[in-house]
Amino acid sequence: MLSDPAIDLCRRYTGETWAGAKERLGKLPQGSPLIPAAQGDQAFLEAEVLRALLEFPTTYTTRPLRILRVIPDETRPVVRFAADSDPDGLADLIAWGLFSTGGKDDLRGIRGLRIIEAGHGRIDVGLLGSDARLRLEGIPEAAWRGAEAHRHQWAQRIGEVAPFRHGGPTPGEHAFALEHGWFEEAWREVSALGSALLRRLLIFRSGADWLDMAGFTKHASTYGFRLTFAESHWTHHDTLIEHLTHPVCRIALKEDMRTCACAFGERGCRIWFDGPEQAVGRFDLQFLTDQRDCEIAEYNQALTYTGSPSEENIRVTGRRPGAAVVCSPGCHGRHDTVAFLRRMAEGRHKERAQGRRKAS
Ligand SMILES: [Zn+2]
Ligand SMILES: [Zn+2]
Repeated sequence: MLSDPAIDLCRRYTGETWAGAKERLGKLPQGSPLIPAAQGDQAFLEAEVLRALLEFPTTYTTRPLRILRVIPDETRPVVRFAADSDPDGLADLIAWGLFSTGGKDDLRGIRGLRIIEAGHGRIDVGLLGSDARLRLEGIPEAAWRGAEAHRHQWAQRIGEVAPFRHGGPTPGEHAFALEHGWFEEAWREVSALGSALLRRLLIFRSGADWLDMAGFTKHASTYGFRLTFAESHWTHHDTLIEHLTHPVCRIALKEDMRTCACAFGERGCRIWFDGPEQAVGRFDLQFLTDQRDCEIAEYNQALTYTGSPSEENIRVTGRRPGAAVVCSPGCHGRHDTVAFLRRMAEGRHKERAQGRRKAS
């Protein structure tokens, strides 16, 4: 029988619901880790999803990479996204961020990712030529239909093939594989670390009170997170490292190097980790602070606009949602994040409306 604290602990890493976690953990074989590791193609698919999400710009959401929970199910894991106030933005993240775009020298997204089935806010995806599966949840259906139609029109216009349901490699994917096949081998080598991070992604939310999380990748082997904190809500790097290397839910990370002045009372640090034994790959964790009151207020407004839960907004910014921005003397005074986000959303809206007119 699994104890309640074990369920609570696991949920901090996965974001699962209480009932969901209890059920999943109850079915695990005796002695299995609470967050099992994926193998082979499955690990590769999950690592590719993490890589693609890190490479697609997602900021101003209190959820890491817009993800609400990751259910590390044995046969078909689930990644649930938060649609927030901009479901079209989420649909674009999936349509352009996860599925391949580009071609010979610039392939963004995941080569060979295909839709197996879609409907009811769920998209089941797999990799061409493998049994690897993943369910993407939380994408509103109308937004997804719009994004898919838009990408089909775009592909037609430039003489490409939209990858979503295409039977084999698209010409772009094929050209990339011929030209840069070694990339994929390198990505495959680091997939154990990528999958392990994705399966624990929510610890970056429950274990650290950042204002903003930006992702990046480097070379073919490094997954990176840059966390920005309000100075008053700083999470010490040791706290997050303890979570990541926790005896029960851990990844066996080995610290490699740090440039950090925390010991001298300063803030702002960067720590590199090597992946677990027998798995190559690096993890690059950066901590920054924002001290200006009006900049923190700007984050607060952006988070409010994007629909972040108010209790989280208060937890990370220390003020109630939508609090006014008052500039301190000497501030540049340009706080246009919300206006920028609004313009982006309006642009998308217009684009979809045009697409619908053309299609009818
Ligand atoms: Zn530090
Ligand atoms: Zn200001």
